Amino acid sequence: MHEPFSRPPEKGGPGGGPGDTPAVRPDPFSRTPEKAVQQRSRDARRRSGQHPSPACGRRWREAPDGARLAAGTCLRYTGAPPLPGLHRTVIRTLLLASCIAFLAACSHAPPRNPMAQWVESPNHDARRPTLIVVHYTEQDSAAQSLHTLRTGNRFGPVSAHYLIGADGTLYQLVADERRAWHAGAGSWGTISDVNSASIGIELDNDGQSPFADAQIDALIALLDDLTTRLRIPRTHVIGHSDLAPGRKVDPGPLFPWQRLAEAGFGVWPDADAPPAPEGFDPLLALRLLGYPLDNPAATIRSYRMRFRGDAADTLDAEDLRILHALTRHEPVPAR
Ligand SMILES: [Zn+2]
Repeated sequence: MHEPFSRPPEKGGPGGGPGDTPAVRPDPFSRTPEKAVQQRSRDARRRSGQHPSPACGRRWREAPDGARLAAGTCLRYTGAPPLPGLHRTVIRTLLLASCIAFLAACSHAPPRNPMAQWVESPNHDARRPTLIVVHYTEQDSAAQSLHTLRTGNRFGPVSAHYLIGADGTLYQLVADERRAWHAGAGSWGTISDVNSASIGIELDNDGQSPFADAQIDALIALLDDLTTRLRIPRTHVIGHSDLAPGRKVDPGPLFPWQRLAEAGFGVWPDADAPPAPEGFDPLLALRLLGYPLDNPAATIRSYRMRFRGDAADTLDAEDLRILHALTRHEPVPAR
């Protein structure tokens, strides 16, 4: 280990370290008058920080406990005094913190494609979601769901951007610009990776109970905030069952889609919309709305659950009227 102030003994000096035995060693405790004068001179030089020998231009340093250093350990003055142990510790801590901060900054730097030459433009911001997906938790309490959404269920890790308690309490678990794991397999329109394009909102509900007014009020307030702040079209609010027919049924037939539409979110047919014209294709209309059609019967059940409150897998004239009205709907442009 390097000792910054340990030096080899001076040849012909006052002594050496372990194992060094000079041939001549002056006696600093001599009682002869001449030796006593020399000793007082040495002591005075030592107290002033000078080497005891006038011939030596180096500094002298007392040991930390006040005892003299072993003879011959005179110190070459190098400018800066030795750092106390505490100062060395502080400096090491600061250097370590700087390294950690540097590495953290690197880890948050946007990944760059090594195939390309990086010529950064300042004109960019975070990507924004374009869809909002509503779920129910199918659990017994918000506390239970907060735990699940921060750990996982029997299928693996799950999360959502928001959870709204039955009393209207709003929790956020994932930042809006981050990709929460709430949608899973499914699609909506041309969106094949729904998690990447959406905000997920979980409602504390067991799947069988009506949704409390306070909870829906909080949801509407949140939808107003999200569609305004993130510039998501107000019609782009769907249920989990819409994007994953046959696999998911939430937020279920009790979810008040009509009330949401009256507040300006999602879609709902006009009550006085005319019947569908002859030759109207309901499956094409479902596709235009965004429903996947890989399993048409499952898609019809999802549609019926949302707009008719049941899970029938056949369409009647009222369904055609509804689908005709919905596909004539002019989407609200993004603001
Ligand atoms: Zn869901």
